[in-house]
Amino acid sequence: MAKTELSERRLLPRAGERAAPAPTHLTLETSAACNLRCTMCSLEEFYAPKGLMTLETFERCAPLIPALQSIDFGTTGENLLNPRLMTMMARARAISPGLHMHLQTNATLLDAALAETLVECGLDVLIVSIDAARPETFARIRLGARLDDVIQAVERVAAARERARARRPALHVTYTLQAANLGELPDAVDLAARLGASRLNVNNVEVYSPETLPEALYLFPHPDLPGVEAETRARARANAIDLHLPLFHEEEIEPCRFLAPGVSWDGEVTPCAALSYRRRYFHRGEWRTAPQRSFGNVHREALLDIWNSAPYVAFRAHFEAGRFAPECHGCARRDGVICG
Ligand code: SF4
Ligand code: SF4
Repeated sequence: MAKTELSERRLLPRAGERAAPAPTHLTLETSAACNLRCTMCSLEEFYAPKGLMTLETFERCAPLIPALQSIDFGTTGENLLNPRLMTMMARARAISPGLHMHLQTNATLLDAALAETLVECGLDVLIVSIDAARPETFARIRLGARLDDVIQAVERVAAARERARARRPALHVTYTLQAANLGELPDAVDLAARLGASRLNVNNVEVYSPETLPEALYLFPHPDLPGVEAETRARARANAIDLHLPLFHEEEIEPCRFLAPGVSWDGEVTPCAALSYRRRYFHRGEWRTAPQRSFGNVHREALLDIWNSAPYVAFRAHFEAGRFAPECHGCARRDGVICG
């Protein structure tokens, strides 16, 4: 039986079964490996082997695509390391012409050919991590990368888009804010605008190592923060950039905004990025260990069956009732200081 036929059948509940609506957003961890070693990255903290998603794993997820509104091709890791990524994106676009496709990258591998392909396959949003406005700071934080190379890569995509007379992909920039790059945030707004970005997502650094601890501005408020924040907002307004800032103090948000199924590179289905791997992190004055919460593996069950399984339905019921699940205890995302 063809996989799409299987999906069409399973999108309907079996007799006597109450199915939850299919998810509208999916995150695929196309790569759990990276070519950089950024100082604040959690990749080295993950207690799991790191790999690249195969086409077989992607195809196990593909039956859900017709029901989706949007898809993220990646969570952690550098997604352009996966040589199968463009095939996956082209296939997703062929299945669902209206699907909103997002791709996050450090842009260090984004050469001219890849830039053309991203435009051709109809990527909607390219999200590039730029954690400094000055080359020296960038090189100190994003070990193994150079700011100039990243700028040139973004310009290659803009040129490919021009040549194709295409409107997409839009460019979003992400900035992991820490003590080391706080002062450069307003200039990063200008840089993002120069590169043609429509949106700048600023996130606090999540603390995975003792070295990163003093970098977390929500744990150790910096006297310059209010002034930098005001200047950043002013520059964003002047540049018409859609600016997203995290909270700089812990304050519980409800409901969780980050709840959407994710499929890890090896097929595990997890409810959010925070629960995608078992890992150690610092929050609210102590070191904690977040569990991995997998509801199944797409190589053993259909993704929609996992979504509709009793444990996953029970997990989501906590949020539908306005509560957090027990697994969320201590999650920095529920405090609004970490986004995504
Ligand atoms: S580019 Fe991203 S995944 Fe790679 S080391 Fe840096 S923060 Fe981690
Ligand atoms: S609060 Fe944290 S652990 Fe719970 S669902 Fe949201 S992101 Fe995941």
